[in-house]
Amino acid sequence: MSRRRRVYEGKAKILYEGPEPGTLVQYFKDDATAFNNEKRGTITGKGVLNNRISEHIMTHLNGMGVPTHFIRRLNMREQLVRQVEIIPLEVVVRNVAAGSIAKRLGMDEGTQLPRTLVEFYLKDDALNDPLVTEDHINAFNWAHPQEVEEIMGLAMRVNDFMVGLFAAIGIKLVDFKIEFGRLWENDQLRIVLADEISPDSCRLWDTKTNEKLDKDRFRRDMGGVSEAYQEVARRLGILPEGGPVDHKEPELVQ
Ligand code: UDP
Repeated sequence: MSRRRRVYEGKAKILYEGPEPGTLVQYFKDDATAFNNEKRGTITGKGVLNNRISEHIMTHLNGMGVPTHFIRRLNMREQLVRQVEIIPLEVVVRNVAAGSIAKRLGMDEGTQLPRTLVEFYLKDDALNDPLVTEDHINAFNWAHPQEVEEIMGLAMRVNDFMVGLFAAIGIKLVDFKIEFGRLWENDQLRIVLADEISPDSCRLWDTKTNEKLDKDRFRRDMGGVSEAYQEVARRLGILPEGGPVDHKEPELVQ
């Protein structure tokens, strides 16, 4: 049997041609990068856990009418997704100040924001993903004003759901990054949530202790990175039996 064709390889995931037209297989690696690729490493079992965590969240979102690219999980490290045209924006939703906003605006990390904020960053590694405004997005045609409006609405719905999901398991959702894509369906162009939602792309703090349960442990050399990701999966009730251990090679889809 021949290997599936690789369509794209990113920092944490690989996309392969899917079994049917319009589908892709999203493979989750254990590789981690930070600070625009300056820091590289491996987090054992991360791919397995992120595959499950993203599946869990996207399945719930699909169920509540937030359209996503997710179709189904195939195995430990792979999920079947719809092929979409990725909108070149990183959409960041913030409930509590941390990371770049804390630095930029001189706020203490952990400060509650007056209200939930939605920010846009241009997906461009060479430029270090700069913060952009809605006016930039419209003027440079990265997305249409109507799409931006829809994205903001969807981002807020994703936030409302995730704040509750995590609060119920003793985790504060500080902020997260999501990406959207365009999908043609019955002659209609739809905006759908794409990429992944996992501790790689969220800040998750234990409600009682403020302990970080996300990629900041890797970025800031805090140790216990795999354990933190496992703890999130455990509290969500989706930790694979026997832990996140598997073979590391991509599998073939039947
Ligand atoms: N984030 C991400 N990918 C990026 C940049 C940010 O997933 O390329 C996530 C990050 O994990 C955090 C949120 O987006 O949950 C906000 O990140 P921030 O702008 O504070 O940037 P950072 O401090 O990570 O550079």
